[in-house]
Amino acid sequence: MNALQLQLEDLQQAFAHEPSPSFAERKERIERVVAMIDKYEDNLCKVVHADFGNRHSVETRLTELAMVRQAAKYAIKHLKSWMKMRDISMPMHLKPSKAWIQAQPKGVVGIISPWNYPIQLALIPAISAIAAGNRVWLKLSERSPRTSGYLATIIGEFFHPLELCVTTGGEDVARDFSELAFDHLFFTGSTATGKRVMRAAADNLTPLTLELGGKSPVVINDDANLEDAATRIIFGKLINGGQTCVAPDYILIKHELIPELKDALVQAAGSLFKDPSELTHSIDQEQLSRWQQLVSDARSKGARVTPLLPESENHPFTPLILTQVTPHSLVMQEEIFGPILPIIGVSSQEDAIEFINSKDRPLSIYWFGKDKKALRHLISKTHSGSVTANDTLIQAGIEQIPFGGIGASGMGAYHGQAGFDTFSHLKPILQVRGLLGIKAWMGSKLAHPPYNKTTERLLRWLR
Ligand code: NAD
Repeated sequence: MNALQLQLEDLQQAFAHEPSPSFAERKERIERVVAMIDKYEDNLCKVVHADFGNRHSVETRLTELAMVRQAAKYAIKHLKSWMKMRDISMPMHLKPSKAWIQAQPKGVVGIISPWNYPIQLALIPAISAIAAGNRVWLKLSERSPRTSGYLATIIGEFFHPLELCVTTGGEDVARDFSELAFDHLFFTGSTATGKRVMRAAADNLTPLTLELGGKSPVVINDDANLEDAATRIIFGKLINGGQTCVAPDYILIKHELIPELKDALVQAAGSLFKDPSELTHSIDQEQLSRWQQLVSDARSKGARVTPLLPESENHPFTPLILTQVTPHSLVMQEEIFGPILPIIGVSSQEDAIEFINSKDRPLSIYWFGKDKKALRHLISKTHSGSVTANDTLIQAGIEQIPFGGIGASGMGAYHGQAGFDTFSHLKPILQVRGLLGIKAWMGSKLAHPPYNKTTERLLRWLR
């Protein structure tokens, strides 16, 4: 038996000893997550910066630590009500029987996280899983090794390994981890790896959440304020160097509006990211080479390049716009996950909808404009994890909004109550009672054989 299997058994035993932790115990564990990031905030910013080569500490505090604190605060505030039994109303003929949903911890939860937001994408699902009363085991990414190693150390300081523990290591470890018989497996990462994880989970019928990637489009309606749209798109595209699962991937806009939009985007990039220290770098050389390859492939197929910022030795890669991109360019086939922004000309919103529907279902669709009818039309004619009108990214920072994909962008959701429910078994309980204590009419009694006139009356009544 290997070490991972033994660790799982220890966690299972720990869960069996405490199958239903109280509100107070769950709250205290969540508070410890917050105490941990509070204590080591500066060091966490430093290790993330070291992993990326450059990531401003404000960006790490905003997109990771503030999000973890917010998730913890929201969970603590609402946990009592999430844990309460949820009444189910009974049909007339079964009253006064009672039914309710009882949220029960699933047991031992495995969480596999990526490198792009290496703190929050590990700790926010962990908070949801702890809130739901589970034991939690994290497998952190090998592509952000300093942050993963540091998180493993501080989690070891704040948590008993049978409450919350960490495994680091490369793809081999990740594969073995995904083959363990968890009571729930939660994976955040690429669609390609998601498929492997799903195959591994199938052998144990492990319940699975997949938080994957994809190409989240932006649709700009004719009546949009281009300057405002451009600023919000640049924010969503360039934060974390474009390495955000819900970053706007490409823009769809009427052909004739492209020159004005391009100017607005360049203007917005210049004013938002004029300080080079605020532009996050690629996670590693492999990622940088991928971006360079996407651009040279697009160029070789006729695309035009417009830099978003002046060239600078401080930017290993200058963010850029691509126009006249052919649909078979790599940049339109793969998730970009970097500071490259293709603009695709369309002749109507209907055209844009057709374009989106010709591709895999994305994690988000962004829409800019005023015409509510056009927005409603887009919402009903496309499929995506979510739709955000007149901004980017912000939906991921609102705990009340479930976060997740559909189809190739994932399955299941978390954040807020969606996270609690994901890591709970929502168990229906039925307590059968007879009217005034009379057993003759109680529960299934009227349906019992031998069948007679009463059964016939029941069938007529049920029609
Ligand atoms: P990745 O799929 O390469 O790796 C993610 C994790 O999977 C890592 O911890 C890795 O060790 C592990 N892994 C690798 N091979 C595995 C295997 N065979 N079995 C099990 N686990 C394995 O993804 P990445 O490059 O780290 O992250 C970028 C991707 O993640 C992008 O596609 C992005 O859109 C997506 N993402 C999605 C979300 C979301 O919430 N939907 C958030 C962030 C990133």
